[in-house]
This record gives sequence, C-alpha cells and structure tokens, in this order.
Amino acid sequence: MMNKLIAGSVPYLPKKIVWQFSKRYVAGETIDDALNIVQDLVDKGMRVTVDLLGEFISDLRQAEENTRTYLQMMERFSAKGVRASYSLKPTSFGLLLNAEACYQNIRSLVQKAAAIHSFVRIDMEDSSCTEIELRLYKRLHNEFPNHVAIVLQAYLKRTLQDIQNLTTDSSAPETINIRLCKGIYVESEKIAYKGYEEVRRHFLEDLEFMFKHNLFAAIATHDKYLVDCAIQLIEKLNVPHNRFEFQMLYGVTPLLRDELVAAGYPMRIYVPFGKDWFAYCTRRLKENPKIASDVVKALFVRQ
Ligand SMILES: Cc1cc2nc3c(=O)[nH]c(=O)nc-3n(C[C@H](O)[C@H](O)[C@H](O)COP(=O)(O)OP(=O)(O)OC[C@H]3O[C@@H](n4cnc5c(N)ncnc54)[C@H](O)[C@@H]3O)c2cc1C
Repeated sequence: MMNKLIAGSVPYLPKKIVWQFSKRYVAGETIDDALNIVQDLVDKGMRVTVDLLGEFISDLRQAEENTRTYLQMMERFSAKGVRASYSLKPTSFGLLLNAEACYQNIRSLVQKAAAIHSFVRIDMEDSSCTEIELRLYKRLHNEFPNHVAIVLQAYLKRTLQDIQNLTTDSSAPETINIRLCKGIYVESEKIAYKGYEEVRRHFLEDLEFMFKHNLFAAIATHDKYLVDCAIQLIEKLNVPHNRFEFQMLYGVTPLLRDELVAAGYPMRIYVPFGKDWFAYCTRRLKENPKIASDVVKALFVRQ
C-alpha cells in the first residue's frame, strides 16, 4: 500500500531525485551515455539492444528526427566497434500518422543495420498496432531477412496463430527472430489472457512451438519460473545455444541475469536512453511498486 502511494507520487517529485533511482534502469540522456553502459555490459559478456526513449509523437517531423538520431547512434556505435542491436517502437516513427512514411523511416534504419552487420527489432505496442506492426515486419523481413526481428506477446490469444503464420508464410523460417514477452499493455479479456498462470502457460506453449520449428527465440522475462522452464525445454529439445537468447531490461533482476551469464547462457540487455527517461521510469515504477522503496532511499541517502 505504502509502495503504491510512493509510486503514485513519483511524477510530482523533482527530476533530480527521481534520477537517483532511475539511473539503475536508464543509460542516460545521450548516445555517449548509452555507449558507456553498453561497452560495460559487452565487457561482462552480454549482448545489448539499445532503445531511444520517445514520447508519443504528433507530427512526422518528430518521426524524421527520431530516424536521424537512430542513424547517428548506429554510425557512432559502429565507428567505435561496439556491437549492439537496436529496438524501436513504430509509433515513434509515424505508424499512426502515415504508415507508409513510417515504413520508409524504419526501412532506412534496417538498411543501415544491414550495412553495419546488425539488426533492428520492432517492439510490439498495444493491440491496436499488432496487425500493422506484423505487416511492417513481414514486409521488411522479405527484403532484409537477417536484419529485422519482431516481438510477440504471450498474453494475446492470437499469438500462437501469429507464430504459426509467420512460420508457414516464410520461405526461410530459420531467419525469423521473435522476442517473446508476456506483454505490458492493458488489454481486454476478449483478446488477452488475464490470469498470471495462464499467461505463463501460453508463454511456454509459444516458446515450445518456436523451438520445435527452429525459429530464433529471444526469451524476454525476469520471471524465474519461466526462465527455469525455458531451460528445461532447451535441454529436453536439445536447442543449440545459437538458436535462442535470454533478454532482460537494464537494471532489472541483475542477480538472475548474472547467474544465467555465468552458466553460459546467451543474454541480451535492453538498454533505454534519451531525454524522455522520466516518463519511462515512472512507468517502470507503476509496474512494480515494490521498488518504490528505492525512491525513498534516493530521497534520504546522498549519492
Ligand atoms: C527485453 C524485454 C523487452 C520487452 N519488450 C516488450 C515489448 O516490445 N512489448 C511489450 O508489450 N512488452 C515488452 N516487455 C515487457 C514484458 O512484456 C513484461 O511486461 C515484463 O517483462 C514483465 O514480465 P516478466 O516476464 O518479467 O514477469 P513478471 O512476473 O512481471 O516479473 C517477474 C519478476 O521480475 C521482477 N520485475 C519484473 N519487471 C520489473 C520491473 N519493471 N522492475 C523491477 N523488477 C521487475 C520482479 O521481481 C517480478 O516479480 C519486454 C520485456 C523485456 C525483458
């Protein structure tokens, strides 16, 4: 209850204080801040995907600005010899304003990723975007099969069918790379599973299908139960280590993350950065009010 209260008051706290708690979850404001954190994670044996935090955009000029920033980031990372992949949200590139302009913006990023031997992952947003984002992915995947990846959410009732369709529609299913996560948006029970155990069950069902059909599986969860079950599946089905990776958010469950890395499992960390860190962090807090006590610590403990 107390944690919920604190979490609710975070948007009204001075940014400087919220930053004391947020810096565990966000690399900083600039490309160079992101580079430093990424280099550190890579040195510790992890892979990284970088995300530029963006607020809702209201005109296409902002989409073009975001495209330019991603291109600069890719150029800078590549020039420094730092290997990373890039995650993005299509609405930040104009998806809901002009789907074709959005496609062209993202296409230019995938093309750049191909030139620097990397790839772009299309994050999955709320269910009003599922169909268009899947179409966007398929179109890009036809042209750049090894340089674009997608996310699917286990809580959506349609997801297993979506995975099956991607598998049967593709002439090269081994190039399909899906990040499977539980899903973060509030969706109606008509289209989404609501029970905690039910979502876990479908997550594992989707994952098993992906393993059995040789799709690349990015297993995005901090849920120890799911991690353990995924490992059991990997062992049972003899899935080679180059056909999956675990993924976690920067700063979340670092002990579990380090255990997996030490045990030799591939791990990719999702590293967000950018001027819009404040909105991102208050969202993370609402998701998990238990960590609100960190904010209180930041209030009283001088860093
Ligand atoms: C790499 C990555 C990419 C993602 N991309 C997308 C996407 O494109 N679209 C989408 O809808 N969702 C995305 N998500 C979010 C995902 O859908 C879940 O909402 C989120 O990961 C929480 O689910 P969980 O599987 O970790 O399990 P949970 O049951 O929520 O969490 C398990 C445990 O992990 C810890 N934990 C979880 N989240 C947090 C947190 N934020 N802060 C502190 N501790 C936490 C807690 O100890 C919790 O008990 C992504 C998640 C990851 C890890």
